[in-house]
Amino acid sequence: MIEMKRSKMPTFLKDKKKTWTDSFVNGSDFSWHNKQKELLELLKNMTASHCAFCDDVLVPKGSDNGEIEHFRPKEKFKHFAFAWANLYPICRSCNGTKNDRFDKLLLRPDEKDFCFSDWFRLDPSTFELKPVKIGNPNWGRAKITIELYGLNEKKTTRRQFEHDNIVKNNYQTKDNQPFRFMN
Ligand SMILES: [Zn+2]
Repeated sequence: MIEMKRSKMPTFLKDKKKTWTDSFVNGSDFSWHNKQKELLELLKNMTASHCAFCDDVLVPKGSDNGEIEHFRPKEKFKHFAFAWANLYPICRSCNGTKNDRFDKLLLRPDEKDFCFSDWFRLDPSTFELKPVKIGNPNWGRAKITIELYGLNEKKTTRRQFEHDNIVKNNYQTKDNQPFRFMN
């Protein structure tokens, strides 16, 4: 989870948000109204095409081009289904693990003054993320974020693999590199 700056809400969303939200709240099936692709690209622009939570890369021609995360799950918080600030680019793995769970303590990569190293550290022997507890009375927020997005469940093997790539200088730019917090 690397700090990210949220761009302005796209105009089409501003124009349609109320109509789409009303229809969903009133019982229609959820739909992106053919704007899913466009929205996903706008969201990915904010993270240089990384998952907003585990920071793996979302590659256009790979197996995982990314999905749109409803931070507050849309079935439980229908009014937030089209709220721009509720949407993040996410990888399939994180999205599948979190599913429709939510906790108000969850960290957001675009919250004020968010900085990866204030909250998480990488254990160099296990490649697991650990909450930073020292000087951080709110470290439980990092713990629940790790749990709900499964940031250790499926990702430690990937991190180990990519660590070797980083050491070998296999990435020309940091934006191409998964898990940007690893160097
Ligand atoms: Zn992810």
